[in-house]
Amino acid sequence: MPELPEVETIRRQLCDAGVEGRLIDAVHIEWPRTVEPFTSDNFCKRLEGRRLGNVYRHGKWLIFGLDEKENLLVHLRMTGGFYLTQGTLKKGPYDRAILQLSGGLNLHFRDPRKFGRWKLSAAPEGLGPDALTVTQKQFFQGLEKRNKTLKALLLDQSFVAGIGNIYADEALFEARLDPRRKSGSLDGSEKQALWRAVRRVIRTGVRNKGTSLGDGQGNYTDLNGEAGGHREKVKVYGRAGQPCAVCGQPLHRKKIVQRTTVFCPRCQR
Ligand SMILES: [Zn+2]
Repeated sequence: MPELPEVETIRRQLCDAGVEGRLIDAVHIEWPRTVEPFTSDNFCKRLEGRRLGNVYRHGKWLIFGLDEKENLLVHLRMTGGFYLTQGTLKKGPYDRAILQLSGGLNLHFRDPRKFGRWKLSAAPEGLGPDALTVTQKQFFQGLEKRNKTLKALLLDQSFVAGIGNIYADEALFEARLDPRRKSGSLDGSEKQALWRAVRRVIRTGVRNKGTSLGDGQGNYTDLNGEAGGHREKVKVYGRAGQPCAVCGQPLHRKKIVQRTTVFCPRCQR
């Protein structure tokens, strides 16, 4: 499932590919639920003829700027992703929505599992500060308002936006904190360790252009169809039973707040 680093990689590539500033000549909705509650016709009418502004991101949401009142918001969910083609439109088997842009550029939204969503709204709702730029002050303020299991805390998009299962496990390992602990039990230096760990794992993920796990149709790939380079760098996620990089003991796997969690019971306290 794409998390902040994967979405940020796609955003940067969309900018590099020159998507910004182009007119939307035509819109094709191939899977109507992608744009619910709009009907496909209505959604197309609302978008056609408008100009794409800058491409932003907040948490896991991609935001295609339109005007002050309304932007195109895209959430990739499980398997969503984009690719570009030039010239005559040829639809791919997993395409759920396509924007035909000026200059003959086609922006395809590919989503095998069909959970991805497109919305028209000013901004995504209910999000805390972005995990890439969250300040220590914002992080501590968010912590003070909550007391929940650390794993649940990091997945809570209203606390910090952009972290999913992979980077939550990585951050807790990096901070040497047990994912089952309550956030209210953290002392000052543990809070700071967690903030630093979140920033570090997210930044490293962005630098490596995201994480790809597995090789299936729904696996994350970037705009050019390439897998992320972060897979080899992952220290705990998906490595249950393998030796901990620090102490050498086998990593444990447990369901914590209904999410599979991998951690080292010896190093993470
Ligand atoms: Zn260990």
